[in-house]
Amino acid sequence: MNLKGKTALVTGSTSGIGLGIAMSLARQGATLVLNGFGDVDGAKARVAALGVPVHYHGADMSRPAEIEAMMTFAAEAAGGVDILVNNAGIQHVANVEDFPVERWDAIIAINLSSAFHTSRLAIPAMRARNWGRIVNIASAHGLVASAAKSAYVAAKHGIVGLTKASALELATTGVTVNAICPGWVLTPLVQKQIDARAARDGLSGDEARVALLGEKQPSLQFTTPEQLGELAVFLCSEAAANVRGVAWAVDGGWTAQ
Ligand code: NAD
Repeated sequence: MNLKGKTALVTGSTSGIGLGIAMSLARQGATLVLNGFGDVDGAKARVAALGVPVHYHGADMSRPAEIEAMMTFAAEAAGGVDILVNNAGIQHVANVEDFPVERWDAIIAINLSSAFHTSRLAIPAMRARNWGRIVNIASAHGLVASAAKSAYVAAKHGIVGLTKASALELATTGVTVNAICPGWVLTPLVQKQIDARAARDGLSGDEARVALLGEKQPSLQFTTPEQLGELAVFLCSEAAANVRGVAWAVDGGWTAQ
């Protein structure tokens, strides 16, 4: 229970990777502040079942004023944010010339700018305590590109850049900033892309899943939210106190090619 007494805020933690990371941090004893849409009660119940205090704030990560309200809530209700996991994210697939402007703006706001806002608001107290962990959930698409994902690739390359710059600003403090770059993880965000591929190519769900993996991920295995959660726990540990500004791929070999 090496995170007992720490509070972790995980954005977009009602589902998928964010929920997996929240549960791993809770298993180490951290108090959790959850965020996100959808099955809020289900997510709260799963984390609370691990025996830690659980709070929730429904801020929309595309809205800076709501992010500020969430950070104030975390300070008042949970004693501040020791561990910040910037995870909320959305996807839209289209070529640049067809990309809806509103989707571009939403992806940049949710997948990139929200991490700037939470970080700028969390860092002063982390500096004052001389301890903090910021873990940014980037992607293999923070390191390499795929066609038809311009906004996502731009946002994920951007969050890797934000990670490096803020890690350098904090390099002489007890606050570290790192990014995790998952390959394919079977979450609702990816299931939508599998469904679209099945419909486009006349494939079954299983065939579309195998085709999706085969195209990019040499292991032919999905990364799991649990594996990403355990990496986040490591980055929060004292053993990782001098890991700074890395973009750590967990992608079955995707970016080794
Ligand atoms: P998901 O759709 O399962 O979960 C996304 C979470 O973000 C949900 O909790 C959702 O409610 C929340 N969210 C969405 N828009 C929001 C908003 N405006 N405000 C607040 N919360 C919002 O997706 P996931 O696959 O778990 O993705 C989580 C993160 O991991 C994203 O940043 C994604 O880009 C990244 N990622 C996913 C994969 C993958 O293969 N699934 C791979 C690499 C990186």
